[in-house]
Amino acid sequence: MEASLGIQMDEPMAFSPQRDQVQADGSLKKNEQNFKLPGVKQDIEKLYEAVPQLGNLFKIKDKIGEGTFSSVYLATAQLQVGPEEKIALKHLIPTSHPIRIAAELQCLTVAGGQDNVMGVKYCFRKNDHVVIAMPYLEHESFLDILNSLSFQEVREYMFNLFKALKRIHQFGIVHRDVKPSNFLYNRRLKKYALVDFGLAQGTHDTKIELLKFVQSEAQQESYSQNKSHVITGNKISLSGPAKPKESDQQPTVKTSVKRPYTNAQSQIKQGKDGKLMKQSKTVDVLSRKLATKKKAVSTKVMNSGVMRKTASSCPASLTCDCYATDKVCSICLSRRQQVAPRAGTPGFRAPEVLTKCPNQTTAIDMWSAGVIFLSLLSGRYPFYKASDDLTALAQIMTIRGSRETIQAAKTFGKSILCSKEVPAQDLRKLCEKLRGIDSNTPQLTGDIQGPASHDPTFSEKTDHRAAHLKHTPQAQHSGSSLYEGDSNGCGGSLNTDATNSEGWNEVPDEAYDLLDKLLDLNPASRITAGEALLHPLFKDMSL
Ligand code: ADP
Ligand code: MG
Ligand code: ZN
Repeated sequence: MEASLGIQMDEPMAFSPQRDQVQADGSLKKNEQNFKLPGVKQDIEKLYEAVPQLGNLFKIKDKIGEGTFSSVYLATAQLQVGPEEKIALKHLIPTSHPIRIAAELQCLTVAGGQDNVMGVKYCFRKNDHVVIAMPYLEHESFLDILNSLSFQEVREYMFNLFKALKRIHQFGIVHRDVKPSNFLYNRRLKKYALVDFGLAQGTHDTKIELLKFVQSEAQQESYSQNKSHVITGNKISLSGPAKPKESDQQPTVKTSVKRPYTNAQSQIKQGKDGKLMKQSKTVDVLSRKLATKKKAVSTKVMNSGVMRKTASSCPASLTCDCYATDKVCSICLSRRQQVAPRAGTPGFRAPEVLTKCPNQTTAIDMWSAGVIFLSLLSGRYPFYKASDDLTALAQIMTIRGSRETIQAAKTFGKSILCSKEVPAQDLRKLCEKLRGIDSNTPQLTGDIQGPASHDPTFSEKTDHRAAHLKHTPQAQHSGSSLYEGDSNGCGGSLNTDATNSEGWNEVPDEAYDLLDKLLDLNPASRITAGEALLHPLFKDMSL
């Protein structure tokens, strides 16, 4: 299975060992901070203790990723005759739901191992500890290379991402967390691998048996989200030292997924109890302000028509007068939240996910791919930086237009109220401005006057020169903290020599046409992975 990934473990590594520390997700640098700290050594020791079989087979060298629900280690193994192999060991937190674990594994074993989808070599379990052993793919930090990629490399990257998505979508897998840190990219070897099925769900006709159970569980999870404070309380006491990921880059459903089975049962009960709901996730219906430097857009989402009766925990007859206003009254605050999966990372979530449309399809992964493409074309990452869904929705509106967003939401049964009308932007102009190709673009970051103050991205541009600097954990940390507290995101663009070469002056219209079709606000008409591979942008590329 792993052979089809073509990872040659005996090949010279593309990067110095120091690069190994750099996590693919530029926004998360936990592993760098931990690297070489005694903590990592201790974690490795603990893992050997928890799953003793590992000691017979692997030499665990380093921790390469740490999230809330798993830790990933680099190990070497002498599995067969021949050179040592590099292996990635993913240790799932012991509180993970057994079905969730099994489903993740089944996605890897059934759909993985070809077409840029990560495969699996072995799986180990002792008691509640599960470790998935995968071929190790040395990969880049997206943020590091973003501004040094040629347009041709970007084209290849997207083509290979669509290949992976086509593969999993054929199996009826919705990944739900497509983002750069889950799509490993080895630039030198031109190798790619979609990883992390920890949030995956099945389509109605999924070929992954276990995803059928996960899907029904998702409905339960959404209920349990209504009382997230309770779960959080449990979680802290059970999950031990696992560090939460940076909040806005963190998949949210996981918090409620990774619970022992018995707790999951009780969550459902509690979730249906209206009392708990009042206290928690009412933020989802609160009017939310998105302030860019000079404008504010506030949004509110409601189900069109029937929602008031069906999704309400109040008597149907209890009417209120906040409908179609930008306020939320106390009656509405006590209404039950609609049940819909919301897993993923806010900045990559499709409009139908942000508005909790219950019918979500593989199209949500295509939207996320569109957001990655937007980053690649504009040189900004993360592009959307939002800590909650309504902020993310407001950010989408400033790119795709408020009227257009409202219109599209109607097609999937949601009505969005927006305090201000914002026009859709021309994607080419937008990306060129941000990339610094536009001649009117100021040369320096910050202090931007005039039209540039409407910088539509919600993150700071990383100085592309950083890509040529050695990456120290400190440098990276301060780099990410730049956009940490600044969702106003008024970073400028830097005109660079690199920008003028490598195809960036001649980005064909096809690229923006494809971007437009990926960021189609209407999931029903959004381009599929199979269609994307046949898009004219890739006319010279073969499958
Ligand atoms: P999580 O659910 O914690 O996000 P992932 O499966 O996404 O777990 O893995 C976290 C990180 O570990 C990835 O972003 C990547 O950097 C690294 N990683 C995971 N699998 C592999 C692999 N097979 N080869 C190399 N690195 C990997
Ligand atoms: Mg991941
Ligand atoms: Zn009301």
